[in-house]
Amino acid sequence: MIYKSITYGIVLLFSVTVASAQSKPAWSNVFKSINEEVEKSSAAYSNLKEATGSIGHRLTGSENGAKAEQFAYDLLKSYNFDVRFQPFEAESWSRGTISVTINDKAYKAVALAHSPVKADVTAPVVDGGNGLEEDYKKDSAAVKGKIVLVPIGLLPGSAQGLHNLHRSEKTALATKYAAAGVIFFNVAPGGILLTGTASVTGSLIPIPAVCISNEDGMQLKEELKQKAISASVKMSNFSGTVKSRNIIAMLKGKSLPNEKIVIGGHLDSWDLATGAIDNGIGSFSVIDIARTFAALKLQPARTIEFVLFMGEEEGLLGSKAYIAQAIKEGSYKKIRYMLNLDMSNDPRGYNATSEEDKALFQSIGQIAQAIDTSFKNTFSSGFDLHSDHQPFMLRGIPTAGVNGHLSREVLRCYHADCDSFDLVNETELKNTVRFSTMLLYGLADASALQAKLIPDNILKEKLIENNLKEPLQIAGEWRWGN
Ligand SMILES: [Zn+2]
Repeated sequence: MIYKSITYGIVLLFSVTVASAQSKPAWSNVFKSINEEVEKSSAAYSNLKEATGSIGHRLTGSENGAKAEQFAYDLLKSYNFDVRFQPFEAESWSRGTISVTINDKAYKAVALAHSPVKADVTAPVVDGGNGLEEDYKKDSAAVKGKIVLVPIGLLPGSAQGLHNLHRSEKTALATKYAAAGVIFFNVAPGGILLTGTASVTGSLIPIPAVCISNEDGMQLKEELKQKAISASVKMSNFSGTVKSRNIIAMLKGKSLPNEKIVIGGHLDSWDLATGAIDNGIGSFSVIDIARTFAALKLQPARTIEFVLFMGEEEGLLGSKAYIAQAIKEGSYKKIRYMLNLDMSNDPRGYNATSEEDKALFQSIGQIAQAIDTSFKNTFSSGFDLHSDHQPFMLRGIPTAGVNGHLSREVLRCYHADCDSFDLVNETELKNTVRFSTMLLYGLADASALQAKLIPDNILKEKLIENNLKEPLQIAGEWRWGN
């Protein structure tokens, strides 16, 4: 036992030495000032309250969306940043009318985004299981011309380790197997309806996709075991090219100005409520992190861009536009890390695509933990999809974020008509701001960063390792052939 503890002691000493070797002595005071500044003067909660109260939802391409873009721009300007709009045009979608009748009974339903401008489908309903490829392969003709009933998530009792697909990927599969429409049912109980895009490409889909409540969906699955069911789905929606703008504030680096850290979060939201959690807490944290840098006149080595993306919900439109511009200019090579805050709340640690800078992340976390022991300094790594880090990651740019948490109560309102300001916890929002500001400062001021732009052949392997080949192929974003 003694031998073990001595060895453990040496290993611990070694890792602490390595970790702390990554940080700079000055950081401890800087982090303390960040902590005090945020605790004392954070405006994230009050700014989000005002935005959700005076603007409402922030749907891309809508009047509200444009107001939100100006609101964010004016805030960053008021913190004396060099701010600019990055306009982009994109196919956008907004909902119109809908009616869903099943066996002559009307059901509460919302359309999923990018459903057809006009649809009027009446057809038998079939149970699609989890709506995964393996479900269709059981009888590939079963859903042809029918309306398929599938869950947004995985059904209770599904096989361990089964990978769920995103609702857009499930819709693409239903289309591939010639279904006439898709009725999704929510996983969250309580009669809650969920929206979100059902398109993997961001363009209109050929069949209507709607969401009904969990209770109605499970009930229909039971009824389908007893009798035939017919459904009628009627809808009208708007689709067309809209103008929107990312908002970018820049802080020039001191000694390494040609290296850049991008911190971003999407400002846009869906229209069923005010998008307080998705992504009010993330985007207004980014704005308040910028406010904290300005208030403390922080001047790290590398350049920082604070970016509020629009169009995330419609298919990462703003972050794709940002990366397309950065590739055109060649400036994407300067980006050493992209930090994404999407529904990030009350961090307990940090994450990154790779482990190359784990020691640095841990050393930053150690200083944070010395200031506040509620910070657990966890570290995780891996690749995933479906938020604004994705276009950066698919160009080999290292991405990172914070390991936060949200209660089941809050998560059940994801993309739903109950995602409103009363769900926001002020203390947890402040925690997101202070611990993210510390991470950002550490990455922007570190003497060296180990993670580099990932070469394409290595990136391909990493994506396969992380089970992302199939979803990217379905989305038409897998550029490595078969
Ligand atoms: Zn989001």
